[in-house]
Amino acid sequence: MLAEGGHFDVLVIGAGPAGSLTARALSMWGFKTAIVQKDVEPVKFTEVLPPSSMRAICAQGLVNLIHSSHSPLSPCSGVTSHWGEGRIYEDDFIRRPESGGWVVERTALDAELQSLAVSHGAIYRKIQSIDHIETYENGWIIIVDDDVSFTCRFVIDASGRPSTFARRVGAKRQVTSKLFAGGINFVGQAVDDIGESRLFVKSHPEGWSYSISHPEHYLSAVLVSSSSSIKNKASLEKALGKIYPQYVDSEAASLDRVLFTDASSFILDHVAGENWLAVGDAAASFDPITSQGLANAFSSSLIAAHTCREFLLNRNFLALEAYDKAIRDTWSFSDSGRLHVYQQQDQWTESLR
Ligand SMILES: Cc1cc2nc3c(=O)[nH]c(=O)nc-3n(C[C@H](O)[C@H](O)[C@H](O)COP(=O)(O)OP(=O)(O)OC[C@H]3O[C@@H](n4cnc5c(N)ncnc54)[C@H](O)[C@@H]3O)c2cc1C
Repeated sequence: MLAEGGHFDVLVIGAGPAGSLTARALSMWGFKTAIVQKDVEPVKFTEVLPPSSMRAICAQGLVNLIHSSHSPLSPCSGVTSHWGEGRIYEDDFIRRPESGGWVVERTALDAELQSLAVSHGAIYRKIQSIDHIETYENGWIIIVDDDVSFTCRFVIDASGRPSTFARRVGAKRQVTSKLFAGGINFVGQAVDDIGESRLFVKSHPEGWSYSISHPEHYLSAVLVSSSSSIKNKASLEKALGKIYPQYVDSEAASLDRVLFTDASSFILDHVAGENWLAVGDAAASFDPITSQGLANAFSSSLIAAHTCREFLLNRNFLALEAYDKAIRDTWSFSDSGRLHVYQQQDQWTESLR
């Protein structure tokens, strides 16, 4: 006997930024919306919102995210990149005082956006797994955790890089570069002495790395590579220790926070279909070198919510097609930028380019 999960207009899978923001918009417009989030322990990690992201944050009406006293964002002064043979580039965000750039602690940002969705009426539920998906005349039956049944008219896949729902209903990943990322949070005196939050990016023969310090006195250092060998904690520590010896000396102990993740660039061959769409990383994942993933989650969730609304109200398939094209154009534009940046780096093998 199946337990009743409930009947909803929209079921959102994944409560990252893209899922929570899509659920927030749809709940605000009166659609009965549920979000199911996989019950995993979140890893505290730091990312950067470049100044260009502000447009999407303003379009969402979320400027308060920056100004509130418990904001998950804190100022970032800019980017210093050592890229290719001896070249150093400085991008000082102070030159763009209208927006600035921001350091983001992801667990805090995600929690803030989830609570915004819930405050507008979305139901939030933690799950272990999605076990069964089937269509019925009014939409979908989704069975989670073996025996809990949800019915809904429309599914939003916001599960991030796994694209859990979209791939189960037949969408295929088109991967342009297969990369892995491994990261460690460092603490200690050397980190405390940094003073400002600035993004440092550096290319190496085996890939590229970045580091960014957070006002709460830790520094996230990440290595991005086409080699899966960095998925091992010991080899990651060794590689990052060579790049950042100042943080692995006796005074700066590494936090036991290690992150391993897929960092590939891909887009699904179709990001929407009858009664579903994918949003954020689930639809199209950007190379981390672009610092575009969060801005894309902020902007694509707004378009996704409008598309879903148009489909539910008018069964307008053209809205789904237009959504697919918007995601595809954004991703293609970014991917040509990614290639341009990688081609400036002459130490790499073809696999990274
Ligand atoms: C190494 C690295 C560094 C990055 N740095 C930056 C940066 O500096 N700036 C930037 O803008 N972007 C950066 N990005 C990209 C950014 O992290 C993503 O673009 C962003 O997280 C996308 O948000 P999302 O909501 O689409 O997906 P996610 O944040 O991945 O959220 C997906 C959610 O769905 C949940 N989920 C997964 N499967 C299921 C399931 N079966 N059922 C229910 N829930 C599920 C996950 O647990 C997660 O909570 C970086 C990415 C990487 C890999």
